[in-house]
Amino acid sequence: MLIARTFSELRDANKKLAGSLGLVPTMGALHEGHLALIKAARAGSGKVAASIFVNPLQFAPNEDFARYPRDEPGDLAKLASAGCDLVWLPDVATMYPEDAATTISVGGPADLWEGAARPGHFAGVATVVAKLFGQVRPQAAYFGEKDWQQVQVIRRMATDLLLSVQIVPVPTVREKDGLALSSRNRFLTPAERQAAPALYAALAQAALAIAGGTPAAEALAQAETLLAKAGMLTDYLVLVDTQSLAPLQSAIAPARIIAAARLGSVRLLDNVRV
Ligand code: AMP
Repeated sequence: MLIARTFSELRDANKKLAGSLGLVPTMGALHEGHLALIKAARAGSGKVAASIFVNPLQFAPNEDFARYPRDEPGDLAKLASAGCDLVWLPDVATMYPEDAATTISVGGPADLWEGAARPGHFAGVATVVAKLFGQVRPQAAYFGEKDWQQVQVIRRMATDLLLSVQIVPVPTVREKDGLALSSRNRFLTPAERQAAPALYAALAQAALAIAGGTPAAEALAQAETLLAKAGMLTDYLVLVDTQSLAPLQSAIAPARIIAAARLGSVRLLDNVRV
């Protein structure tokens, strides 16, 4: 597995890996969800590159950039055994030189939900992903459905900026009890960890109810009650169009339920198909 930390190392690595390349962008602290993206990239692209970069631009000042988990040696071992060909490990100065003056602002699917709850978040994500595409030059890039809205935002950006990178979504990897794997789950206390699967359970139940004819508003209200019973504070829990993220009153169009809820100090995200 090649490891590049500078542009010249990345150029050398790119020459060695001639042919089609799939990219898996990550912020490290890797788990089985990230490794599923590597696996999908191996199946769909010739060679696989992963990037590890905790992107300061997508964290607001009051968010958890400083405490975001970091484990480079562990990550490299996991990537090597998952069959990754190249790891790109830029530092902040490489990604954001002092004189850099460009950020990418995505509208449409970026405006609501996570975008509204975390102003500037998707601009940070879009900017770093565009830079990673420019640096690594992949033919395809793999993103987790766990962050459903993020996938739609990246798709929108790639289409609008004619980036000619195929955006490939990969299904969410879950614990046995349904909790979506996330680098932040380690911050749950044992009691919170026990309560956390209620998010997926509530979404799955609401999706079934809506598909069975229960009015969406009623099913979503029931789900929110379940979250409150589990000690969670719902940020949003909504039925949306799968691509535009516009709210829907019923599942006549292809629909998804997306949700964010706070449990102690952790903000959990999840979503299900309806
Ligand atoms: P992160 O390191 O959290 O920025 O995530 C990097 C990529 O892994 C993103 O495309 C995420 O959507 C994806 N990812 C995170 N958790 C999961 C999961 N449980 N299942 C599938 N993909 C995931």
